[in-house]
Amino acid sequence: MKKIISLSLGEVMLKKNNRKTFIDNVIKHAKRMIEDIGYEEIYLDMGKVYIVAAESDIEEIATRLVDVFGIVYVSICYRIDKRMDEFEAAVLKCFDESSNEATKTFKAHAKRTDKSFEIKSMDLNNKIGSIVLSNRDVKVDVHEPDLFIYCDVKKYIYIYSVRLKARGGLPIGSNGKGLLLLSGGIDSPVAGYLMAKRGVKIDALHFHSYPFTSKRAEEKVHRLAKILTRYTEDIKIHSINLLPIQKEINKNCPEREMTIISRRFMVRIAREISRRENYNSIITGENLGQVASQTIDGLNVTNDLADMLVFRPLIGMDKVNIIDIAKQIKTFETSIEPFEDCCTVFLPKHPILRPKIEDINLSEEKLDINKLVNDAIDSMEIINIK
Ligand code: ATP
Ligand code: MG
Repeated sequence: MKKIISLSLGEVMLKKNNRKTFIDNVIKHAKRMIEDIGYEEIYLDMGKVYIVAAESDIEEIATRLVDVFGIVYVSICYRIDKRMDEFEAAVLKCFDESSNEATKTFKAHAKRTDKSFEIKSMDLNNKIGSIVLSNRDVKVDVHEPDLFIYCDVKKYIYIYSVRLKARGGLPIGSNGKGLLLLSGGIDSPVAGYLMAKRGVKIDALHFHSYPFTSKRAEEKVHRLAKILTRYTEDIKIHSINLLPIQKEINKNCPEREMTIISRRFMVRIAREISRRENYNSIITGENLGQVASQTIDGLNVTNDLADMLVFRPLIGMDKVNIIDIAKQIKTFETSIEPFEDCCTVFLPKHPILRPKIEDINLSEEKLDINKLVNDAIDSMEIINIK
């Protein structure tokens, strides 16, 4: 009998054509999460992934793997050979480890995936039931049991009760590459997380206004990216100083259009980097109505430039829900550290709420747009967050 871990894969299993790549991606991510702990073996047995490791590491590995996208449940199982001599011991061990004084009822849930096995699911359920009933002081409740005892019959028999709910989603890289506009705020890390959860491999683009914004503000963005690497692979941060562009806008354009025009430069730069580095989507933390640049008119005026897919996964969410996710993915505490953002430099006193594309185009005529974009990208810094 061996205590091991099983990973139940969710939507991954529905996508017939890509199943193999998807499973490989889940395994790759899982391996990366536990490389410092180590494991003995990872294998596939009829639809689930199993991890064999030192017994003392099982709990820690299980806790970490909950964060790997593509997994819906992480279970701690007792694996036995397909003979019945260890069956009773495994059932009782499993029961004892997951029950406590409050456990009054249970239910057996057997699944015979290997149909060549001679004992049918129904009979396995009865066997588990009678083992527990005759050895422990509990009753069966088929409707609302305090605990389940699962039994999967495959190449081996797996008996388990502890099932940790994982994040679900799709494995990293199963849906292309996205360039996340990452500020130091609460929203953009959450937006990146949500798209990563749908399988988008994320890299970041950050704008600062050094020396108006500090190195510590930069470093905070690196820490946010670091937190996100838990859910995705390494993140490459493209770091750009927006100050030269902001100065030009400040000099040539109406003050109230400062924010919206800067935002349009962010999109232009994001689009150009995406073209050069083959990102097939841009991701932002924009949220309808949150601030002046995020009115429908404002969003239209920035969106007008992006001749590629822009994901705004937070667009219809309430701030409280965004904060809930930020806390849950552990970016919140970092996001609320008080550092200045590039958008606060030259912040207009009365930003325009209903910008019109014709007016903005007219204001931008005074700027050498291509030169500004290319200069910004030429002086870009790349930081790899592992
Ligand atoms: P956040 O919490 O992500 O900073 P926000 O609520 O402050 O968002 P805005 O400042 O209007 O809203 O920014 C909207 C989106 O534009 C951000 O979510 C982010 O995707 C992008 N963005 C804003 N500032 C920057 C920046 N300095 N670098 C990169 N992207 C930025
Ligand atoms: Mg912000």
